[in-house]
Amino acid sequence: MTTPNDTPLHWVQDALESLDADGLRRHLRTRRGPQRATIELDGRSFVHFGSNDYLGLAADARITDAVRDSLATVGWGTGASPLITGHTDYHKTLENHLATFEGTEAACLFVSGFAANAGTIPTLVNASDIIFADSKNHASLIDACRLSRATISIYEHCDVQHLESLLRNAPEARRRLIVTDSLFSMDGDFAPLLEIAALRDHYGCMLLVDEAHATGVFGPNGRGISELLGVESAVDIKVGTLSKAVGCAGGFVCGSASLIEWLINRARSYIFSTSHPAATAAAADAAVQIIQEEPFRRSDLLAKSTSMRERLTSQGWDLGTSESQIIPIRIGSAKRAVAASRALSEEGFFVPAIRPPSVPDGECCLRLSVTYDHSEEMLQAVSGALQSLRSLAV
Ligand SMILES: *Cc1c(COP(=O)(O)O)cnc(C)c1O
Repeated sequence: MTTPNDTPLHWVQDALESLDADGLRRHLRTRRGPQRATIELDGRSFVHFGSNDYLGLAADARITDAVRDSLATVGWGTGASPLITGHTDYHKTLENHLATFEGTEAACLFVSGFAANAGTIPTLVNASDIIFADSKNHASLIDACRLSRATISIYEHCDVQHLESLLRNAPEARRRLIVTDSLFSMDGDFAPLLEIAALRDHYGCMLLVDEAHATGVFGPNGRGISELLGVESAVDIKVGTLSKAVGCAGGFVCGSASLIEWLINRARSYIFSTSHPAATAAAADAAVQIIQEEPFRRSDLLAKSTSMRERLTSQGWDLGTSESQIIPIRIGSAKRAVAASRALSEEGFFVPAIRPPSVPDGECCLRLSVTYDHSEEMLQAVSGALQSLRSLAV
């Protein structure tokens, strides 16, 4: 439906047409059936390389069972925000288990990872303070930083020297906060957390690390890149999500007991939002337990990811700095990325094209995510299709 010419909202139609003209218009597709390595999208079947369900847990029967059990006990809705009556024993159990899993004093749940960032950062800093942020931080971190009204000093992606020079030359501030993804969601590379932790110590800054894509995947216990690199004790505020490798929904923050107490008292997205159904907490609790009991899921995933990156590199693709299950295949313009994604979809592979605003202009790519559920045959088949694209010089 179009907006009539004479309404104040008419500009929206023009703006959409200009997105179309630039190859930037996005369209929703409707999935039917479970989230697995093979999915049905708009009535067609695809091998799925676009999911964040890295450990293949989203459709795990043990999680469904946990949901069913909790529904039989407490039903569905929670009816209130956590501070009123929406914090059930299921939420509390999950928070306790998350804190144990993460090795921190405490943890608190948010309705999403986005809400965790949007709520947390403005409780830590305000207009009297400075944030130092990686230029490729996730949108939720960017928005959270803006919401805080702190001065935002942006360093070049993963550039520790640039960060240090910004820290050295920064104006006086009440508090200083370094904010970074641990595993970057578009490039699939790691933040240099060892060096950042040293700068945090030297300059007396708080450090917030968002492990959204790394929780459950990296580190001996699956606690993310900060565990992998041995810097957990320098991470003052650790953000995670339950919606990616954990296969459920929701976000969380973990850290000291006083930090969590502060968030419960001050984080607006925590206070002014109804808690998730207890069933969601039950699901995530089951998933976190599986992650602890089945480390083979992450080791297998990482082995598959490494061999996939090697295969694609040997075909001559530019994968940037990826060192993870997130593999960006650099294409260039939005139009070419969309054409490549469409060609793969005709072969039965879902590999999303990533365009602005997710990446800067000219850095468009195919973003291929490897998951535990992918069989060797699936990985070989998509490599074959990419090889053909390459020979066509797409
Ligand atoms: C996906 C993502 C989020 C948002 O998590 P949701 O639970 O999906 O809202 C936050 N931070 C980063 C770095 C992410 O990649």
